Amino acid sequence: MMETHPAFLDWWKQEGRRHYDAILFDIDGTLILGRGNPLPGAPETIDYLHACSTPFRLLTNDGNRPRERKCSFVTEAGIRVTPKEIISCSHALKGVAQRLGLTGRDIFVMGNPVPPGDYIRDAALNPVTDPARISECAAIFAAGGRYEWRESILAVFNELARNPAKPFIVANPDSYYPEPEGGYGIGAGSQARYVVQLLSELGIVKEPLYLGKPCRAIFDYALEELRSDCGLTALRPERVLMLGDFLKSDIAGANAMGMGSGLMMTGVTTREALEHAPEEERPNYIFDHLA
Ligand SMILES: [Mg+2]
Repeated sequence: MMETHPAFLDWWKQEGRRHYDAILFDIDGTLILGRGNPLPGAPETIDYLHACSTPFRLLTNDGNRPRERKCSFVTEAGIRVTPKEIISCSHALKGVAQRLGLTGRDIFVMGNPVPPGDYIRDAALNPVTDPARISECAAIFAAGGRYEWRESILAVFNELARNPAKPFIVANPDSYYPEPEGGYGIGAGSQARYVVQLLSELGIVKEPLYLGKPCRAIFDYALEELRSDCGLTALRPERVLMLGDFLKSDIAGANAMGMGSGLMMTGVTTREALEHAPEEERPNYIFDHLA
């Protein structure tokens, strides 16, 4: 059952905060519309949550910029968040590396490792970018972003053809993403699926392990951080509300986790798309704007 409310913040004050202990926000289309451009009510909403000490985090599938850099896109819009409140899909690398027994090992990184190198070292992995060394690496990580693909993709295709069981971790499943300066970039997900398609034509079925929304790794990381850093040690997913503008990513991901889901009509989703959304992409709440 979907409930519609004009303003998220009014609903939160009157009712929402009784049902939820923490909030996860998408960034683009939810708090800002492009770099430095706030959506109406976003600064007030964040200030209110700070004033009430309500725990929240901003979730981004941008796995290629450090927290501080992504944070600046939001603070330039007059929204007073701190780098600590940003969670990138690449943060989820740590939990996945532990689960796969990769800690302390070399990982081949497609692309320029300089910014995502931070996440990789936080996960206790050693980034390697020299394609000649790919066979020494215990796993492959597609971080996305802008880089010269040819050498990397060729090396990854050949390595997975030789060793199909090697973990292929991908920052996010996104096909494309909006560039802060306008236009679109090609996402880590479509770079990975290009390799997967090549492998399938060799008869090899390879399933990448995606970190970003709607997949669970980023949500698991966010839950852990809220539990450990915000004094919510027993926080259950159903006490967390995810607020975002994209049905297939924010809403489907939250629903699969058993979290509350709130759709902002300020981004990519139209009324028509919402009417035709399958059950797993239907939000619990719909908001016309934040405040
Ligand atoms: Mg969005």
